[in-house]
Amino acid sequence: MPALRIENLVKSYGAVPVLKGINLSVENGDVIAVIGRSGSGKSTMLRCINGLEPFQKGAIEVAGHKVDTASTHLRALRKEVGMVFQSYNLFPHLNVFENITLAPRVVKRLPRDEQAALVKEVLTRVGLEEKAGAYPDELSGGQQQRVAIARSLAMKPKVMLFDEVTSALDPELTGEVLKTIAELAEAGMTMVLVTHEMGFARRVATRTVFMHEGRVWEEGSSEEIFTNPRTPELRSFIAPSLK
Ligand code: ADP
Ligand code: MG
Repeated sequence: MPALRIENLVKSYGAVPVLKGINLSVENGDVIAVIGRSGSGKSTMLRCINGLEPFQKGAIEVAGHKVDTASTHLRALRKEVGMVFQSYNLFPHLNVFENITLAPRVVKRLPRDEQAALVKEVLTRVGLEEKAGAYPDELSGGQQQRVAIARSLAMKPKVMLFDEVTSALDPELTGEVLKTIAELAEAGMTMVLVTHEMGFARRVATRTVFMHEGRVWEEGSSEEIFTNPRTPELRSFIAPSLK
């Protein structure tokens, strides 16, 4: 069973078609980079996968769960899929420990005596084991984003979705977040990541998907996509990054 399967996904906002029949299959342990111009539908696709957006046609399955917007299905889905956005959305009045344990306590009824071990485990994975007591405004943007990743990991998702998680960060902070994501990849986490970091996509992703005008325009091994683009649209998109 693939970790994620998307079949003929069609999504419109009103009369405006945004996703025009997306097909994508992601195996366990795959790291998929999604690239493409602004407005090509990348975020919308991730939001459909996570049940944040209804869609008109097609089917999505994550770790054996069918995605539809009925609330019972969504609750099951949210345990399987983690999502991290450009803005970290940490609760400012909660410290790192409380931010991380909030969902596991509420959704999974995680017992109090298991919380410290969980926090330690996920903070270690993002290299911030010293920061459990810190409040978000005491952390750099890069550290806050790594806490957001840790918070997502605390739900033990089968698939992680990342939507341009470094776009709001200064270059020197981008590196530490990409390093964290690369380490998750190495540890075998299944991930779909929308990114503008072409070098990172090429280096870390097993496959790269180029979206254009609401379609998967080209996909292949990252090596293939970056060294041998077949369509003029992909060639012109990646040209600046090859200079
Ligand atoms: P990307 O992430 O690739 O930049 P998006 O998925 O955000 O693209 O957007 C794809 C298209 O859908 C764009 O044309 C955008 O204007 C439109 N769109 C996105 N969200 C909404 C919305 N909530 N209502 C109407 N149109 C939207
Ligand atoms: Mg987007």
